Amino acid sequence: MRAAELVAASAAILTTHMDFIDIFRRTGALLEGHFLLSSGLHSSAYMQCALVLQHPAHAEACGAAIAERVRSLGIQTVLSPALGGIVIGQEVGRALGVRAIFAERQDGRLVLRRGFTLAAGERVLVVEDVVTTGGSTRETIGVARGRGAEIVAAAAIVDRSGGNPGLPVPFHALAAVALPTYDPGACPLCQAGSPAIKPGSRTPASA
Ligand code: ZN
Repeated sequence: MRAAELVAASAAILTTHMDFIDIFRRTGALLEGHFLLSSGLHSSAYMQCALVLQHPAHAEACGAAIAERVRSLGIQTVLSPALGGIVIGQEVGRALGVRAIFAERQDGRLVLRRGFTLAAGERVLVVEDVVTTGGSTRETIGVARGRGAEIVAAAAIVDRSGGNPGLPVPFHALAAVALPTYDPGACPLCQAGSPAIKPGSRTPASA
């Protein structure tokens, strides 16, 4: 199959929830176990978008699918939080034909580095891979607003927020996925005695 056909096939696959989950399953990106999410919550499942995005055809298709949902908004720049948002942000920027830049942590705060700039009034789309509590997306929106930019929307591949990302701008996701999350103090997996693992590492999160 030629690359363009693969992209078209992937874009079609992303249009329905079950088939979207199938991409995650087929790429090994839907993990089951006991995980510490970056939000601080625990979960019995984790969606490792990097394992989908490692395939450039899937990454391009996800970026194109997000771009289609926001194309009418007059977006001038895509801004993503490092590291999780960089690859999908780049693909959304490619599909929209606009710049894609990223914010990264310095002394615990998200900041623009590397000479990246945003002008006052610049129309910005904030793009993430997964939104769970919305915390890092809100922080990224704050970075852009601090430069005077206008945040017209936020977008992600996966919405794990349960339909309530708590964002101050319109939010678009390719798939809304209901996976269980628990406060650490009320996590049944912790109560069963298993250690929570940081996704991507093989060591318990408490180590
Ligand atoms: Zn737990």
